[in-house]
Amino acid sequence: MTTTMATVLDGSKIAAQIRSEVAAQAAKLTGAGLRPGLAVILAGNNAASEIYVRNKVKASEQMGVYSEKLTPPDSVSTEELLRMVEELNRRDEIDGILVQLPLPAQVDSKKVLLAVAPEKDVDGTHPTNVGYLSTQRPGLVPCTPAGVIEILKRSQMPIEGRHAVVIGRSDLVGKPVAMLLLNNNATVTVCHSKTRDLPAVARRGDILVAAMGRPGFVTRDFVRPVATVIDVGINKITDRGEFDKFFAGNPAREKSFAEKGSTLVGDVDPRVAEIAGAITPVPGGVGPLTIAMLMANTVKACKMRRGTSHDRRG
Ligand code: NAP
Repeated sequence: MTTTMATVLDGSKIAAQIRSEVAAQAAKLTGAGLRPGLAVILAGNNAASEIYVRNKVKASEQMGVYSEKLTPPDSVSTEELLRMVEELNRRDEIDGILVQLPLPAQVDSKKVLLAVAPEKDVDGTHPTNVGYLSTQRPGLVPCTPAGVIEILKRSQMPIEGRHAVVIGRSDLVGKPVAMLLLNNNATVTVCHSKTRDLPAVARRGDILVAAMGRPGFVTRDFVRPVATVIDVGINKITDRGEFDKFFAGNPAREKSFAEKGSTLVGDVDPRVAEIAGAITPVPGGVGPLTIAMLMANTVKACKMRRGTSHDRRG
């Protein structure tokens, strides 16, 4: 019996398209004296956060978006961060404010995030934007979930009328993905750790979105043949046994694992590609969309707050 492999949905290519569209819009706004601006607050010394922020600043430069990095020390207080956010809220040339998480342990993170003006909340997590999303009003949408929808639409994967199953219900990923799919007229089922008989529920999905943070958890028996599978998970594996479970006999992965001592796997077992209709790879699937959508949100925030009435409708 021959196995037909799923179509690979190339997130890197889609992210590159979005980046070039965003750069063109940023250039147009800059030409009109409205250069979009992003401020990122990076508190303390978290190595992973420093890399994420560096990538966001680099993407801003590449797209002609002004960016500013604020680096308060590890000892920063909630009040100091609140003052910093309020100052950024007041500055007209700053369109987007991103508070990189996690914040130092002594800081009341929720209070700081709530202080970001909703019209500058490029993470799309402020309750005002969550409310706009669920009532289908214009607002800022969380970046990774927005990226999931871009992948589906730009790959001509139909959403309307399809049954979408989302595994994961976090405020940052699962819930907004589910809401966006619903707003695009899918019939949506949201699963979580208390869902009974998860594989059977997942198998009902024409579209299956995995956003749980469990390496390779979604195996073939979760997937309806020819379903579209979107793997949001990004998990680093360093254990040889775990590596062999997913990638034994894969020369490209063997080489990079030998060089780096680690590799990335999503929440979906790579062998799902043998039965799915289409699938996002890890890396190179949903991941690259997150920064592209952050930049898109910064330009959108600029247009919505400072643009002409034509821009504001767009
Ligand atoms: P999270 O806040 O930890 O949420 C995980 C969700 O998965 C929870 O709702 C949890 O259910 C559910 N879950 C966990 N184990 C489960 C199980 N065995 N069965 C069913 N449901 C289970 O994680 P997140 O922030 O949403 O992130 C999810 C994944 O996406 C992670 O791998 C993360 O690294 C990745 N991510 C990727 C990007 C990107 O740029 N591609 C961006 C953000 C996140 P309960 O609610 O019942 O606990």
